[in-house]
Amino acid sequence: MNDFTGLRALVTGGASGIGRATAALLAARGAAVAVLDADTTAVGEPFLPVRADVTDDASVRAAVTAAVAGLGGLDILVNNAGIGAQGTVEDNDDAEWHRVLDVNVVGMVRVARAALPHLRRSRHAAIVNTSSVAATAGLPQRVLYSATKGAVQSLTLAMAADHVREGIRVNCVNPGTVDTPWIGRLLDRAPDPAAERAALEARQPTGRLVTAEEVAAAIAHLAGPYSGATTGTSLAVDGGMQGL
Ligand code: NAD
Repeated sequence: MNDFTGLRALVTGGASGIGRATAALLAARGAAVAVLDADTTAVGEPFLPVRADVTDDASVRAAVTAAVAGLGGLDILVNNAGIGAQGTVEDNDDAEWHRVLDVNVVGMVRVARAALPHLRRSRHAAIVNTSSVAATAGLPQRVLYSATKGAVQSLTLAMAADHVREGIRVNCVNPGTVDTPWIGRLLDRAPDPAAERAALEARQPTGRLVTAEEVAAAIAHLAGPYSGATTGTSLAVDGGMQGL
């Protein structure tokens, strides 16, 4: 298993779900971890909380500066903060498109832009972006969300090309439906939460939801020394949803 002793990581959206599990795994494997989130009230030891809204460039720059100061540098960026959106092209207006793109795509760009000068000083620099199976699977009622996650996948590949010769690797994970507070909120809004959960489970050939810890393990693999020759890739963690 990857050893992160001596490495410093920043995890966005790290107060909940996939980000929280990733921060915990990296810390358990020896990393010093800062958690960037819009709400850091539940972020406790051993993490360094840095509060920022990824749609606000000034707050992102201040949070990255604080993280780097607190950790003594930066080796790993897990660009994971994101929000959902449902509907067809007829359901989401321009304001909703701009709002979700601003978090899911430009938000990742803002954090990467602030982090890159620090990553360049690392001898083990890696960025892992959280995309989704929605980027490639053609899910119904998810047009806006899917477009943002497709953009994250393209962003990953283009960034990998730009920064490979600087020694910075850039990869992404494409999770299926993951059992996080996000899905809890989705189920709470469903007319029949149990039936909705069963439908989500049935969509994945494994017959169950992915766990946040399984996505965290994939992120840790891409962030760590064991994947030192891997850049510009997408790693599916989707219970076989795409491709089987
Ligand atoms: P979650 O809602 O449990 O956690 C998301 C975290 O991001 C929260 O702590 C929230 O405060 C933070 N956040 C949201 N908007 C922010 C903003 N503007 N600025 C700063 N922080 C912000 O969600 P999750 O399920 O853990 O999802 C994490 C990532 O995984 C997202 O990018 C999501 O698109 C992706 N993903 C989730 C699933 C799934 O089924 N849960 C599947 C595929 C991909």
